[in-house]
Amino acid sequence: MRHTRHTPRRALADPGWMARCASTMALFALLLIVPSLLEPPHATYSARPVVPFDTAEGKLLALRPLGDLMERDIDDLARSLEYRLGVDVTLLPPLPIPPEARDPATGHVVADRLLNWMFATRPDDAWRYVAVTSDPLQTGDAHSLYGYANAVDHVAVLTTFHFEAGLHSTDRLERALARDKLARAAVHEMAHTLGLDHCEHDLCLMQRVIPLDRLDTRTSLCHDCIQRLDRALATPNDPWREQLDLGDSFFHRRYYTRALHHYDLAKALLTPHDDPRALSQVENRIGASLLSMQIVAEGEQNIRRAIDLDPAAPQPHYNLAIVYAYAGERALAQEELERGMALDQDPVSRHGFAGRFLLDILDDPDAAAAHLRAYAAAGGDSPYLLEALDTLSRPGAVLFTHGEVEVIHATW
Ligand SMILES: [Zn+2]
Ligand SMILES: [Zn+2]
Repeated sequence: MRHTRHTPRRALADPGWMARCASTMALFALLLIVPSLLEPPHATYSARPVVPFDTAEGKLLALRPLGDLMERDIDDLARSLEYRLGVDVTLLPPLPIPPEARDPATGHVVADRLLNWMFATRPDDAWRYVAVTSDPLQTGDAHSLYGYANAVDHVAVLTTFHFEAGLHSTDRLERALARDKLARAAVHEMAHTLGLDHCEHDLCLMQRVIPLDRLDTRTSLCHDCIQRLDRALATPNDPWREQLDLGDSFFHRRYYTRALHHYDLAKALLTPHDDPRALSQVENRIGASLLSMQIVAEGEQNIRRAIDLDPAAPQPHYNLAIVYAYAGERALAQEELERGMALDQDPVSRHGFAGRFLLDILDDPDAAAAHLRAYAAAGGDSPYLLEALDTLSRPGAVLFTHGEVEVIHATW
């Protein structure tokens, strides 16, 4: 039995996956666990603040208090981050916790929802954006969080919840210790927004799990993480790249108008003397945003410019294949797909795009299945594509997409 699916509208209406550069969401949660479950420490590292840098220019960390917090604690945190990271910290006016950050059923603050809200409302001049709340934070599988960061979007959130007793203590030393814990959690999350991953070293501040009673001078950045953080902080700002990344983050969230705004800013920061590959990347993204907004003819021009600027880049060819498919030019679409694939060194990107394009736009499930198998074998991990492969692999199965009309032709 064969089947076809009625999908072309979906491909037009939902092209959030159009070929740009592969970029995955990187979310990091810092967990705390019950102290009694821990192994004894094997090594210690000296508590050493990261030295300030001359390269701090343009690196403005915007700190946003959310909900019920004490001003003196936030002031102290801002000063502490300036000292530890050597960047400027600006305190934004406090706001209530946004209702959309809460789980409607439990009322708890869900960390990744809050990050989404933060990203959409981030100040334009913020280099990094960190919110602080006194509410407990949770994610799908974790409830005891100090903080949560999105490395790609450069936003993070912290909670004072676990330090509240100390912060409210009448004992000055207790208060100082609690503020130090909060600052350490903040450095951990900031390090994520600077590209640092979790660290396996015992007692390093970048461990995934740190018990509350050891989040003090015994838990500092290890030597390797200090070097990583130093390098990240010392890297001069690259304004066009920052705009490109911001555009990508908006594109992933399907805010195409805002994505386009940042891609246009990136383009304005480049001159014709810059690397044509950089110009090509920007043109391709502008083209993908316009296509996603159904402005096809103009988008096609940008995509063709991207190809002229960097004929070796696969992504503009993939997007041109989409343009041809929209115009009903199936053979040309197939040709551009093959051109892009021949240039694409990354099997996950190559087979992932081909599988999705053949499935969603050219409506060729048999050809799609072969690419999706190659995609899975190469380590591709998109839940959407793996689920599609699973469904296609079942004999006689019909792919459903939520909210879609099914048109099934059975032929033997
Ligand atoms: Zn972490
Ligand atoms: Zn480390």
